[in-house]
Amino acid sequence: MANFDYDLIVLGGGPGGYVAAIRASRLGMKTAVVEADSPGGTCLNRGCIPTKALLASAHAYHDMKRAHEFGLECEKVNFNFEKIMKRKDDIVAKLREGVVSLFRANKINLIKGFGKIRDEHSLMLNDSEVISFKKLIIATGSRPVNLPFLPENSPFMINSDQALKLTKIPKKLLVIGGGVIGMEMANFFAFLGVSVTVVEMLPQILPSEDASVAKRLAAIFKKYGIIIKTGKKVLEIREDRAAGNVSVKLEGEAETSSYDLILQAVGRQRLINEINLQNVSIKTNGKKILVDEYFRTSVAHIFAIGDCASDIMLAHLASHQGMIAAYNASIEDENAMQKLHSPVPSCIYTIPEVASCGLTADRAKRENVEVASGKFMFNMLGRAMCMQSSEGFAEVFTDVKTGKIVGANILGPSATELIACVQAAMASNQTIGEFSEKIMFAHPTISEALGEAMLDVSKSAIHVMPAQR
Ligand code: FAD
Repeated sequence: MANFDYDLIVLGGGPGGYVAAIRASRLGMKTAVVEADSPGGTCLNRGCIPTKALLASAHAYHDMKRAHEFGLECEKVNFNFEKIMKRKDDIVAKLREGVVSLFRANKINLIKGFGKIRDEHSLMLNDSEVISFKKLIIATGSRPVNLPFLPENSPFMINSDQALKLTKIPKKLLVIGGGVIGMEMANFFAFLGVSVTVVEMLPQILPSEDASVAKRLAAIFKKYGIIIKTGKKVLEIREDRAAGNVSVKLEGEAETSSYDLILQAVGRQRLINEINLQNVSIKTNGKKILVDEYFRTSVAHIFAIGDCASDIMLAHLASHQGMIAAYNASIEDENAMQKLHSPVPSCIYTIPEVASCGLTADRAKRENVEVASGKFMFNMLGRAMCMQSSEGFAEVFTDVKTGKIVGANILGPSATELIACVQAAMASNQTIGEFSEKIMFAHPTISEALGEAMLDVSKSAIHVMPAQR
């Protein structure tokens, strides 16, 4: 049998790649990760973690400013942007060290460099060195898409990578794109006192969430002073370097508006074009690498996971796929290979938080599944009132035919944590009646809202007035 440098090479050390490598190593494979930049990928260095660190500062500042609502007196509330950014950088650096330590502890070789596929069993590193593998997992991720309106080096136009490196905040910011990244960034800057406008060309913000959720969040953002313009395209952007601003023309608006900064959050492009996929005829659809249910590409011993091979670009999906692909790469028997079973939770870390999974009202309609729903408003919940966070609702959906829980929407405090409970309910494959009967929610907790929403499906929620049903 041929000798290879490694049983497995993982190309890309983001949350897909590094998790796959650790799993593979624990399964006994001699493993290396080839990473051109920093371990942890987009998620750790330019995505999930830095944005949540910044949002935590902004949310704490927001709470300080509304201290009076808790009966507190807090004068001269202020923030230091440099320190907010440093806190974020410190968290990222610490977690990055953690990933490197995990590699070391699991005897994974971290190879710094840009890898390209050379042939069916080798990579070219930095166009100079060849390393061979028995199996390969491609986990090259994605990068922000830049709009063509202004030159790439324009000081007035940034993407999410550049937003995380700002040294001062703008006065007037336009966010182009009302998706998850756009709305989280809008929340962050608005809480720091920036005048924020969000423009989204689709009819609603958060296009992948139910319209009812998006509408409610938009109304709450309006209260924060954020202007949201949906169903509008940006037609023209002109720089005025002397005045230090840009003027923006939107579809359907006679006047232009000026801003001192534009943040483009209009999607991400998968990194599949620079790695010589053609050398081994790995199939793509032009946008992403095509894989089967076991995450194998059209070349059976080469797998692909995460942003570069998925429609949904989320870190936990990349990691989950990484775990499965690593296991499948470690065995030869196709019949023993694993598949993805779990529905993918979607979490948005605004105030209030948004989370959903599975079939919600709009998704069920699109898929022609008849669902029943139960809903509970957080303004009826003791714990939410104590926390001064009673905006929003928890809503669960069941399949009318089977009575099984098929999805949920949560808009409110701790939504991003609560959604795991719905995932567990879905994974346990019980009917909503069986689940409600067996699980006791602690009091007073935010999770009681889910318990009540589940009971509300059969109109038996305790803290809902009969007239409200
Ligand atoms: P990546 O994390 O992109 O990692 C790919 C790695 O491969 C990179 O380190 C890159 O340098 C390396 N690489 C690429 N090509 C090569 C090559 N040829 N040779 C060597 N190395 C290479 N997701 C969530 O789940 N929750 C969130 O809250 C969240 N927030 C986000 C906020 C922002 C601002 C952004 C931009 C993204 C966010 N995401 C979030 C999405 C999440 O970051 C991605 O889905 C996730 O990082 C994808 O993981 P991955 O391993 O597929 O790719």
